[in-house]
Amino acid sequence: MAKIPEVVPLPRDAQGRVDVLSWRPSFDRMDSPIMGRVLAAAQAADFTAYGPADVRAALARSRRTRDDLAALLSPAALPLLEEVAAAAQRETRNRFGTAIGLFTPLYVSNYCQNVCSYCGLSATNRISRVRLEPGGVAAELRAIAATGLEEILILTGESAKFAGPEYIAEVVRQAATYFRTVGIEVQPMNVADYRRVHEAGADFVSVYQETYDVAAYERYHPAGYKRHFGYRFEAQERALAARFRGVSFGALLGLADFRRDAYAAAVHAQEVQRAYPHAEIGFSVPRLRPILGGQAPLAERSGESSAAELPGFVVPASDVHERELLQVMCAYRLFLPSAGITISTRERAEFRDGVLGLVATKASAGVSTAVGEHAAELADDPTGDEQFEIADERDVAQMCAAIRARGLQPVMTDHVRLEA
Ligand code: SF4
Repeated sequence: MAKIPEVVPLPRDAQGRVDVLSWRPSFDRMDSPIMGRVLAAAQAADFTAYGPADVRAALARSRRTRDDLAALLSPAALPLLEEVAAAAQRETRNRFGTAIGLFTPLYVSNYCQNVCSYCGLSATNRISRVRLEPGGVAAELRAIAATGLEEILILTGESAKFAGPEYIAEVVRQAATYFRTVGIEVQPMNVADYRRVHEAGADFVSVYQETYDVAAYERYHPAGYKRHFGYRFEAQERALAARFRGVSFGALLGLADFRRDAYAAAVHAQEVQRAYPHAEIGFSVPRLRPILGGQAPLAERSGESSAAELPGFVVPASDVHERELLQVMCAYRLFLPSAGITISTRERAEFRDGVLGLVATKASAGVSTAVGEHAAELADDPTGDEQFEIADERDVAQMCAAIRARGLQPVMTDHVRLEA
């Protein structure tokens, strides 16, 4: 008779919840020293220790240290934001010229098995859930390709049941027939699954740690596989081990101390760049947006948008206003000058236009964060509710016009796909 394998129980905390630093036996481990180094560096950073002289010294250097990064993220840098932004713009022009890459995200499934208290797709939220099947995916891809875009980012909620590696690889295979560059923003996967998706045609992996503050991470992720902090942390390394061309980093600014989270994301990216020098590194700078249903994660409201204006949406509080967001983007640019920085449609059009060419090198256009909203032929099908509320609804033509109006050049792709 076959022997039933022994089930090893996962370690649990006093409330019976899975230990946030535990690993499931099915998870690949990179056994990399990077996580320990990033968390130690983030914990040691003291953002109150810097003054204007430290910020100006950081601006004057051509290669900036982690100490410089902390100075640039410190409160002392905020009053000097114009000087900081001018230095960041010089770096952007030196590395990227006037090019601004354009892409659009395509949400193909909004099923999610995780509980994240800041997200509209959280498993506990009663929303309309949809997964596109191949015909629907093709209709969406055709509609987006018709706008002239050549880069796409495939997104799903994190659900092994509804959007596992096989489904994601199939969507990527379809996407690669329409687009020259395909990125994925899906659940963290093991190396073999990343390899399968890469071989189907995906080039880039985006995984955001949300917060590098382990205690806050534990609070915001009470259930689901996402609760395993370390497995998420090592996702970029697994993707690069599976031969992806590039990976993106980011923290959801506003969940915890945003300076420390931004510092940790930058150090994480630097560590991965050192370990994988060939990798293209990118940053996204999401901050909390109003979500459908859900709970507000922080006690206070930001005041930037009013829940009353957005019926059904909860506006989580945040101390990350546009000046702070710009400060973080400038710090990323000055610390890792070659990293791409994407500005999301979570931000309003005027702010996005202002940071294009200054620090941001990539922007999304023609965005819907709901499932199945691009193709007119799907108009009668049920659409899945959106992940969050967007602030910039401009289409591709309008974004191209806005980019050109700033003396910049919209770029649909900088990549030629070679057929095997
Ligand atoms: S943030 Fe991601 S993992 Fe969490 S509920 Fe939303 S879609 Fe799911």
